[in-house]
Amino acid sequence: MAEFTMELNDEQKEVRDWLHGFAADVIRPAAAEWDEREETPWPVIQEAAKVGIYSLDFYAQQYFDPTGLGIPMTMEELFWGDAGIALSIVGTGLAAVGVLANGTDEQIGTWIPQMYGDQNDVKVAAFCSSEPDAGSDVASMRTRAVYDEAKDEWVINGTKTWATNGGIANVHVVVAVVDPELGSKGHASFIVPPGTPGLSQGQKFKKHGIRASHTAEVVLDDVRVPGSCLLGGKEKLDERLARAREKARAAGGERLKNAAMATFEASRPAVGAMAVGTARAAYEVALDYAKTREQFGRPIIDNQGVAFQLADMRTRIDAARLLVWRASWMAVNGRPFTAAEGSMSKLYASETAKQVTAQAIQILGGNGYTREYPVERMHRDAAIYTIFEGTSEIQRLVIARTLSGMPIR
Ligand SMILES: Cc1cc2nc3c(=O)[nH]c(=O)nc-3n(C[C@H](O)[C@H](O)[C@H](O)COP(=O)(O)OP(=O)(O)OC[C@H]3O[C@@H](n4cnc5c(N)ncnc54)[C@H](O)[C@@H]3O)c2cc1C
Repeated sequence: MAEFTMELNDEQKEVRDWLHGFAADVIRPAAAEWDEREETPWPVIQEAAKVGIYSLDFYAQQYFDPTGLGIPMTMEELFWGDAGIALSIVGTGLAAVGVLANGTDEQIGTWIPQMYGDQNDVKVAAFCSSEPDAGSDVASMRTRAVYDEAKDEWVINGTKTWATNGGIANVHVVVAVVDPELGSKGHASFIVPPGTPGLSQGQKFKKHGIRASHTAEVVLDDVRVPGSCLLGGKEKLDERLARAREKARAAGGERLKNAAMATFEASRPAVGAMAVGTARAAYEVALDYAKTREQFGRPIIDNQGVAFQLADMRTRIDAARLLVWRASWMAVNGRPFTAAEGSMSKLYASETAKQVTAQAIQILGGNGYTREYPVERMHRDAAIYTIFEGTSEIQRLVIARTLSGMPIR
């Protein structure tokens, strides 16, 4: 187990500087254009693939970094460049993690390369869990997967929504109900391979922020996938369901219904790190502006009203990063989240990004309110962090339940 450290080692610093260079030279200059176009920035993803930032190897290296700092460092730098483009780059990684965490070695080897494609023909992947009636309440999921034993195939029916890269992905990872009696414990994840009949894109959403990232409904109409597409395999699923049925009998079902809220504890710090990247970007623009913009014959930072805001912004950003790094280290080193530290990090960092980007607009005055400067885009982008991967209210619920041991509603 690695000791918790607040300092990047030399190798990590090198990677961070390399990522920062890409974010500054390639992502940031393209940000405004792709925000306006509201389209997936394929040329930027391809550029990232060419230099090695868009690849399984790179993310696996960061994901398994024992210090836990690899993923937060990566997210912070890329999202510092631009949140919409960065999500287009790392969105595939979110689906790949689903396969890495639950798949067999064979599934990992077969599907993850197809999620990324190669530098001449880049592909993306999608992770589809949310549904129109199952957002925060994951246990209400309706998409159903039924096993056809005669053909050794799973038949999937349902509608997914809010899927990042949904419909344009080469590989979709779809969460579906296999045993409706077990709430979220009766869910399983499936690979839907490229070109599978029955999977189609529904509505593409026009969004407030992260507009370079494609978000859409995914319709599954009698989608048939081979038995080998069940992540983890049938034997493991049957064992897991048997254990869950046993527990449900003992606990009367109530506890299992709510279990899903805590399942993302380990992945939440990564979203916190994205928020830190956006907040830091807006803070830096505001600091530069406050030092150079003059009113009443002196730079506006000469006023405590402005300088103190910047002091608060930076303090919050550093505090958010520390929470993110701690939770990420805990996740990698298998430390139990006894105080829901993963949720804490995501809650604080996402609220920080919203607040800091709003303050940045205020510090830039009229310019902050225009698209000539990037802080209004950063503020629109920041709003997503308090919504996806569990809203702020759900983070508070998880933290409060974990601390109290009470079924707080
Ligand atoms: C841009 C974008 C990208 C996304 N990408 C993906 C993706 O790739 N894959 C995927 O599966 N999903 C994705 N999502 C879905 C996202 O995770 C959900 O939007 C989120 O979980 C919230 O669900 P909901 O939108 O249905 O809101 P709801 O659950 O309907 O919540 C509405 C409001 O009610 C509050 N609320 C709900 N229940 C409680 C409660 N018990 N206590 C207090 N307050 C409560 C919420 O906090 C929120 O403020 C994405 C969403 C967006 C907007």
